[in-house]
Amino acid sequence: MESSFPYIDFHTHKLSSNEERITAVTSIDPSELEPPPNNLYTIGVHPWNANTNSINLHLNNIKTYANSPSMVGIGEVGLDKMKGPRLDIQQKILEKQIEIASEIDKPVTIHCVKAWDELLALKARFGGKTSWAIHGFNGSQELAKQLLDKGFFLSIGAAMLNEKSKLQESITQIPVNRLFFETDTTDVDIAQIYAVVAVKLDLSINDLRKSIAENFSYFFRR
Ligand SMILES: [Zn+2]
Repeated sequence: MESSFPYIDFHTHKLSSNEERITAVTSIDPSELEPPPNNLYTIGVHPWNANTNSINLHLNNIKTYANSPSMVGIGEVGLDKMKGPRLDIQQKILEKQIEIASEIDKPVTIHCVKAWDELLALKARFGGKTSWAIHGFNGSQELAKQLLDKGFFLSIGAAMLNEKSKLQESITQIPVNRLFFETDTTDVDIAQIYAVVAVKLDLSINDLRKSIAENFSYFFRR
């Protein structure tokens, strides 16, 4: 029997999912003029696009979108030491978006590459009452532990399907009530990620679907 809990795709860039068994959250940029037609969405300036000239316009767009019931959070936003503009510019843009997240009381989806200390410092300063999730987490057990201790959720993507990824070890250290799964920019079937993790954690797929659906309700408060 098909589970009554949908597969949650926590973070995708696809505009709509036509499959009924999937609930997807599309990440869009504030320069986009139309929200995705069918999906829930988060909105935010990606660190690669951080730009101090356009930020005020984009922040206004984010606030306008925040009135829509389909807009469930801020993201993806973050820090990336390998790509994009200078880190201080990325930081400034991230801070402004985090402030809005607190103001409108929505959770935050984070992209972070090699800037964990900076991110943890920001979480300590601003991240009081809103939930934060790291999308595309593919780190070590130590990093997972550090982030979990600070209250982060961790969203796991296609890297889970790579037998050599660090996730093969760290996945077993992440409590099920802090997990999400995502397709991001890939064509992977979200059900495949659920299937691999269910085996790793020795859970039925149905139980995993139930747990992730509960996380989803908690994180997005819906
Ligand atoms: Zn993404």
